[in-house]
Amino acid sequence: MDNETSTHLPAFHVMAKPTGARCNLRCAYCFFLKKKQLYPGGSFKMSDAVMESYIRQTIAAHRVPQVTIAWQGGEPTLMGLDFFRRAVALEEKYTPAGYTIENTLQTNGVLIDEEWCRFLKENRFLVGLSLDGPKPMHDVYRHDRKGRSVYDRVVRATRLMQEHGVDFNILCTVNAVNSKRPLDVYRFFRDELQAPYLQFIPIVERKNETGFQEGRRVTDRSVRPEQYGRFMTAIFDEWVRRDVGQMFVQFFDGALAAWVRGKSTLCVLRPECGEGVAMEHNGDVYSCDHFVEPSHLLGNIMETPMADLVGSTQQRSFGNGKSETLPRYCRDCDYLFACYGECPKNRITETPDGEPGLNYLCPGLKSFFRHADRPMRIMAELLRRGRYADEVMKILAEEDAAKSIAKAGRNDPCMCGSGRKYKKCCGTVS
Ligand code: SF4
Ligand code: SF4
Repeated sequence: MDNETSTHLPAFHVMAKPTGARCNLRCAYCFFLKKKQLYPGGSFKMSDAVMESYIRQTIAAHRVPQVTIAWQGGEPTLMGLDFFRRAVALEEKYTPAGYTIENTLQTNGVLIDEEWCRFLKENRFLVGLSLDGPKPMHDVYRHDRKGRSVYDRVVRATRLMQEHGVDFNILCTVNAVNSKRPLDVYRFFRDELQAPYLQFIPIVERKNETGFQEGRRVTDRSVRPEQYGRFMTAIFDEWVRRDVGQMFVQFFDGALAAWVRGKSTLCVLRPECGEGVAMEHNGDVYSCDHFVEPSHLLGNIMETPMADLVGSTQQRSFGNGKSETLPRYCRDCDYLFACYGECPKNRITETPDGEPGLNYLCPGLKSFFRHADRPMRIMAELLRRGRYADEVMKILAEEDAAKSIAKAGRNDPCMCGSGRKYKKCCGTVS
């Protein structure tokens, strides 16, 4: 392993997995659970020594005064609240004047109660809550080890967090089942849960026993590429016509940044990645949460400084590989600036002329980008002029009305709402 240190460490963040692959649920598509084989007989319980080192090194390695301490699973709440109380105390100890620390916590919500909510609010944690939509959709793949529903407990967690003013995002996978009901999913989060921050994560799950990124076939639970495109497009159409500035879909915001500045804010849509590493319970650091596997092990923070691991040649080459391995089909694509071949973990198919390395989701991504192009251009132009992106809703509404009138049959009811026939109403106006 080459751990030559970079002299210029990029902005980075570390997703710590204090419970490793340990979880109180058994979601059917979960790739974390299979990672147990990496640590046979392992405790999957982060020691206080590793936790302290993680916090101290993460803060020390930052050249910018905003630091994120990220807690990911498995299920991190299984560590218990006292673990996180000790973590917050250590953050205070190691934070220099003028620095701010933000903790993020990814959870399935099952253990979130009043006490957790008070702690999360007091310490300004940003929570990511996993929920796949209304009950019939959530229950298909997300359940406990006996296959029982946990939906009510997850919804209770959202209500409790709302009551306590805890900031949270919903993380919703896009899978073979819920991808067929995009608006039911979106409206559920918007209208029923009143949860405005959404992340949609496509399930592209390789068919193998290792849980590593191997093989080219995907499971039946995976979303079909075209269906993924239809899902995102249907939600985009609803969002861009009525919810801009009220609902926040991470993928839309990340893609819009590409239209505005030529580069997305999301790792999956950027030319390079590698700024977000994953750290196992014992301090082992891997190139990405999606590549916790032996070939992407960078080293252990108890032996090698975290800054050296994150800035290593191995990690730089992982991040640069995202662009360097793009097939020509992507390099010639009209939407390269917004997509960059999406995440390398999903590049398991071939281009039409047989070049390997095309993203499995490509047909869906391309149809989404093509469909979203015009509204994205409008929003980008508004922002460049110092106006608000939500003005796009009025612009599109006027365009839609004009198109409808142009299409209206002369005997159809007039679009102006007069109740008269078009030919006797607005259709008479030249
Ligand atoms: S491998 Fe994928 S998820 Fe990981 S950092 Fe790169 S683009 Fe992001
Ligand atoms: S839309 Fe398809 S062809 Fe275009 S950059 Fe993305 S993956 Fe490549």
